[in-house]
Amino acid sequence: MPDNHSITKKERDCLIAVGRHLEDQFPVRLSDLSRELGIKNPTALNLVKRLESKDMVLDDKGMIILTKNGLERYQEIQEIHRIIETLMVKHGVDLNRACQISQFIDYLMDHPSVDTIFENLGKPSICPHGESIDQYH
Ligand SMILES: [Zn+2]
Ligand SMILES: [Zn+2]
Repeated sequence: MPDNHSITKKERDCLIAVGRHLEDQFPVRLSDLSRELGIKNPTALNLVKRLESKDMVLDDKGMIILTKNGLERYQEIQEIHRIIETLMVKHGVDLNRACQISQFIDYLMDHPSVDTIFENLGKPSICPHGESIDQYH
């Protein structure tokens, strides 16, 4: 994975929180993000600025939206997340625990490893939550 793709766990959580609001009528505000992430406004702003410098989000007068690059990264992380939790659940890990653990791995995984896992799992179309695995592959 190229270096400009590398993000921290906190940046990952922020990117996912912004992405989750994609279906909403209005973009997410900074104060919503702080609340959802359980952090203070200045900390959330700092995360948004860091993601902005990596061309993943845009801060439009307090409305936080994903860039094209950020959307791709969001979808990719979601896909990888679902593949990893599918792997763990298949091997007996509790679903909630698998989902939690996957959040610490999904943004770090490289494509060849994920592809190998995906193929060995028999290319599942959904994760154990029933969410689709189809964008990244
Ligand atoms: Zn999950
Ligand atoms: Zn899931």
